[in-house]
Amino acid sequence: MHSRATATAHESGLHAVLGALEARWPQQVSRTEAARLHHANTLTWYPPQPPEAVFMAASTEEVQAVVKLCAQHRVPIVAFGAGTSLEGQINAPYGGISLDLSRMNAICAVDAEDLTCTVQAGVTRKHLNDYLRDQGLFFPIDPGADASIGGMAATRASGTNAVRYGTMRENVISLTVVMADGRVVRTGGRARKSAAGYDLTRLLVGSEGTLGIITEVTLRLHGIPETTAAAVCPFPTIDDACNAAITAIQSGVPLARVELLDELQIRACNIYSNLTLTETPTLFVEFHGSSAGVDEQVAAFRTIAQEHCSGDFQWSTRPEERSKLWQARHDAAHSCLVLKPGAKVVATDVCVPISRLAECVAETKRDLADAGLFGPILGHVGDGNFHVALLFDADDRDELARMKAFSERLAMRAIAMAGTCTGEHGVGQGKRAYLAAEFGPALDFMRAVKVAFDPYNILNPGKIFPAEPATDGADQITTHA
Ligand SMILES: Cc1cc2nc3c(=O)[nH]c(=O)nc-3n(C[C@H](O)[C@H](O)[C@H](O)COP(=O)(O)OP(=O)(O)OC[C@H]3O[C@@H](n4cnc5c(N)ncnc54)[C@H](O)[C@@H]3O)c2cc1C
Repeated sequence: MHSRATATAHESGLHAVLGALEARWPQQVSRTEAARLHHANTLTWYPPQPPEAVFMAASTEEVQAVVKLCAQHRVPIVAFGAGTSLEGQINAPYGGISLDLSRMNAICAVDAEDLTCTVQAGVTRKHLNDYLRDQGLFFPIDPGADASIGGMAATRASGTNAVRYGTMRENVISLTVVMADGRVVRTGGRARKSAAGYDLTRLLVGSEGTLGIITEVTLRLHGIPETTAAAVCPFPTIDDACNAAITAIQSGVPLARVELLDELQIRACNIYSNLTLTETPTLFVEFHGSSAGVDEQVAAFRTIAQEHCSGDFQWSTRPEERSKLWQARHDAAHSCLVLKPGAKVVATDVCVPISRLAECVAETKRDLADAGLFGPILGHVGDGNFHVALLFDADDRDELARMKAFSERLAMRAIAMAGTCTGEHGVGQGKRAYLAAEFGPALDFMRAVKVAFDPYNILNPGKIFPAEPATDGADQITTHA
C-alpha cells in the first residue's frame, strides 16, 4: 500500500520523467487509456494493472535514456515485448512506465557460417524465421504465440521443439542489456561456449525484466532439416500416451516434438480446426533429419508406441498437412473455449522429471475431477512439461476459489516430485508464492542478486518476489510465501 508521502514522491517522479520524455520524444509517449490497457495483462485471473504511461523505444540509446530518468526519479519500468506472457508479468502493480520494445525489430546480423544471428529485442520469432528461411536456417524455440525474442529470453521460454533443440537457456548466446543504473553491458561474444567469469547471460535469461532491459540478443541457429515427418498417434489411456513418450526419450529416439493432447483437447481441436481425430489421449510427434534418419526414427517410435497399445498412426510428410496439424496444436489455447461457450481460460504449467510425468498427469486429472473443474491437459511431454487450460466462469467466485486451490496443489505436486512450479511460463505474479517451497534458502540468494542489480527496485517490481513500490532501497524486497 502506498503511504501518502510515497504516493506524492511517485507522482512528482513520474511527472518529471514524462515531462523529460515528452519534451524529447513527443510521438513516443502515450498516456491514453487504450494504450495503457493494451500494455496490461489480460491472460490470467489477475485483474489488469495498467502502467501510467507507455514509451515506444526505437533504440538501445532511447532505452538507456528512459532507464536513467526512471532510476533518478525511482519510477517503475515494466519492459514489454509482445504481451503474450501468461503469469501477469506485464502488469504494473506499482504504476510507472511500460517500456515497449516492439519497434526495436531489426535483424542486425546473420552469421550463417557460425549458425548465429543478432537481433533487436522486439523481433518476433515468426518474423525471424521468415527472414532466415531462404538461407536454409531456422530458430527453433516456438512458444506458439508470436512472442518477441526479448520477451522469450526474459521468460526463458520454450515450447514444442524444446525436447530436441532446448529452451531459450540453450539458444541465447549473449545479450546487450541496459542495467538498472543505465549502463549498457554486453554479456558475451558469439563463441558457442565460454568459461569466462560468472554467466550473466544465463542469469538474465528468465529474469522477467527484473534485472535489466534486454535490447539485443545473439542467438544460436539451426539448419532446416532435410526431411520432416509428423504423426498423430492415439492411445487408449493418458498413461499409455505418457509412457510411450517417456520410453521413446529414454531409448534415445531424437524426437523433434512430442506433444500430448488429452481427449478433451482433441475434441476441442476437432471442432475448432475442423479435424476428425479419434477423441482419446493422443501424441502429436515430429521427426527431423536425413531421409534415412527419419525413417529409422519413425520405425523406432512406431515399435515403442505399439508396445503402449497405440491405435492407428496418421502420418504426414507433406508440408501443408503438417502445418494444418501443428496449427491445430498451436490453436489449442483458443480452441478449448468451444468446449464451454462463454467461459474464460487461464493456462497453468508445471514440469517434472520425465519418470514422474505419467503419475503427475494422472493425479492432476483426478484432482480436476474431484474439484469439479474443467480443463483440458496438453503438454510438451518430452520435457516432462504439461499445461492445464482451466475453463471458468469469471462471475463464479466459488469456481475461482477452487481453481486457485487446484493450481496451488498442482504446483506443490510438481515440486514434491522434484519438479518445478513452472517449466516455461515463468513466475510473474502467478507463481511467486511457490518459490520458497521450490528453492528454500536458495531464494535468499536470488533476492540478493535482485538487490545487487536493482537496488531501488525499479525494474518490474512485484514480480518473482512480492515487493513494495520503489522508494529508497533494497530492503523493500520481501517474500510473502
Ligand atoms: C496461446 C499462447 C501459448 C503459449 N505457449 C507457450 C509455450 O508453449 N511456451 C512458452 O514458453 N510460453 C508460452 N506462452 C507464453 C508466452 O508466449 C511467453 O512467455 C513469451 O516468451 C512471452 O514473450 P513476449 O514477447 O510476449 O513477452 P511479454 O509478455 O511482453 O513480457 C514477458 C516478460 O518479459 C519481460 N520482458 C519483455 N521484453 C523484455 C526485454 N526486452 N528485456 C527485459 N525484459 C523483457 C516483461 O517485462 C515481462 O516480465 C504462450 C502464450 C500464449 C498466449
